[in-house]
Amino acid sequence: MPLRFTNTLTRQLEEFRPLDPTGKTVKLYTCGPTVYNYAHIGNLRAYIFEDLLQRQLEASGYAVERVMNLTDVDDKTIRGSREAHVALGEFTAPFKKAFFEDLDTLRIRRAQSYPAATDAAQIARMIDMIAQLVARGHAYQAEDKSVYFRIASFPNYGRLAHLNLDELRPSGRVRSDDYEKENIGDFALWKAWDEADGAVGWDSPWGRGRPGWHIECSAMATGLLGEQIDIHCGGVDNIFPHHEAEIAQTEAITGKPFVRLWMHCAHLMVDGQKMSKSLGNFYTLRDILAKGFTGREVRYALLRVNYSLPLNFTLEGLATDARESLRRIDEWLARLNDHARTATASEPHPLAEQRRFEEALDDDLNISGALGELFKIIRESNAALDAGALAPAHARRLLAWWARINAVLALEPETVALPTEVQQLLEQRAAARAAKRWADGDALRDAIAALGWTVKDTKDGQKATRLAAAG
Ligand code: AMP
Ligand code: ZN
Repeated sequence: MPLRFTNTLTRQLEEFRPLDPTGKTVKLYTCGPTVYNYAHIGNLRAYIFEDLLQRQLEASGYAVERVMNLTDVDDKTIRGSREAHVALGEFTAPFKKAFFEDLDTLRIRRAQSYPAATDAAQIARMIDMIAQLVARGHAYQAEDKSVYFRIASFPNYGRLAHLNLDELRPSGRVRSDDYEKENIGDFALWKAWDEADGAVGWDSPWGRGRPGWHIECSAMATGLLGEQIDIHCGGVDNIFPHHEAEIAQTEAITGKPFVRLWMHCAHLMVDGQKMSKSLGNFYTLRDILAKGFTGREVRYALLRVNYSLPLNFTLEGLATDARESLRRIDEWLARLNDHARTATASEPHPLAEQRRFEEALDDDLNISGALGELFKIIRESNAALDAGALAPAHARRLLAWWARINAVLALEPETVALPTEVQQLLEQRAAARAAKRWADGDALRDAIAALGWTVKDTKDGQKATRLAAAG
């Protein structure tokens, strides 16, 4: 079945076709973090949705070329660096590092590139784009020395957000003491330096200043992926004005449709409100890991609801639903692995119900439907195992299927490195058993258990697994 996604631009479910005439490569741009703090798990929901999208595209045979920006200069990062009395780069560096650690903890695949707004090449590109916009009459420098995009010059402005922007259309020049823009909706492309910016600033044809947030993404997307890209994502709060502005700036220069498919994920909610730093109702991933949850559990909790629906977050849901669902997957995999050992061959073809998992994901990333199919198969194959009615070859086939769907889910059990002490005791135990010193072997098994590991003797030798953590 072809992939279908809901396009924010048309509000329609559309069959996906890449721009690449060979049909192989998909260009994906995803708005990244503003690195003035640790990401909260609402931000991380957006990144997990984008990860699911990338993995599903790859599982469907596409090569994904992906760029994600790091917003490392804006009001918040500048304020943070002033308050901490350090240079901007010094202030943002630990948050950039923490962002990548969070990605790894949540098993989010890396983009090919993470350009930062302060990279010299990116600043140069932004200045170049702004100059082109000014030259074509799409932008102007106001009395405050900042440069603004003239939304009246771009008739499609408002199309993505489906907003009635009549009130933003010019009805003569808007002026007041503190207002120098031609139109209330005109947004900053270049912000003139002021005292609060301290040492932060770059020289430009319009004087010292810094780029606006919107031009950052237009410059990075077109600079690294080209004038036209397949898919652009973010959270729904990015639709307006950020993505609307990106379209206006980019298309005013290129004259071509910038993005074919816009996808936005609904918010992570807490008690009916958007999780956000400004409301103070947020958890960082670190907060949650400190409560004893794993990255895998958080991944599951953020993944399991369809991206287009708001997801209400509770710690209780994480402790019950996510933990319990993963435990069921783990037990099922352990049983299948045991059972498949005696299989001589795997049955080759996937079952119809297995294909339903993939079909659900093809249908606008319907992950809750796909997980429903997975748990149905788990229930049925567990029942068949209980009844002694599951052929070992079938168990092997289910494991092969799991490996395939897990390339999209990334929910495999945590692998924990064997501690050296346990490794040494295992070696001593192997030697004891080889010499038929069974009592020593048993004592060593107890010593290993005291370190939190169990040993099983299999035909391939000893197998140590970590005892389930309490809680
Ligand atoms: P920011 O660091 O604020 O620029 O946001 C980074 C990404 O997280 C953007 O794609 C936002 O749309 C997204 N985002 C922010 N808050 C939430 C939330 N509560 N739920 C889902 N996504 C969010
Ligand atoms: Zn962006």
